[in-house]
Amino acid sequence: MADREDKNRENVTGKFYVDSQCIDCDLCRETAPNNFTRSDDEGYSYVYKQPENEEEKAMCREAMEGCPVEAIGDDGED
Ligand code: SF4
Repeated sequence: MADREDKNRENVTGKFYVDSQCIDCDLCRETAPNNFTRSDDEGYSYVYKQPENEEEKAMCREAMEGCPVEAIGDDGED
């Protein structure tokens, strides 16, 4: 389960986030490219835009459920 106290620092404020457990597998970026991207410097993913409609929310949830190390959370705030 993702830990909101351990978010990658690049995440934008809001519900979804990626924490430090990310293994850079690319699944979330493929599943929800409007919301997840890669830090090339750090070698992990982060949320660069929170979902703005139902379709994006569904893709973020799918990414969260598919993440092999449960590094994506949906209980984030600022
Ligand atoms: S699916 Fe999970 S492990 Fe894979 S890149 Fe995204 S956050 Fe990282």
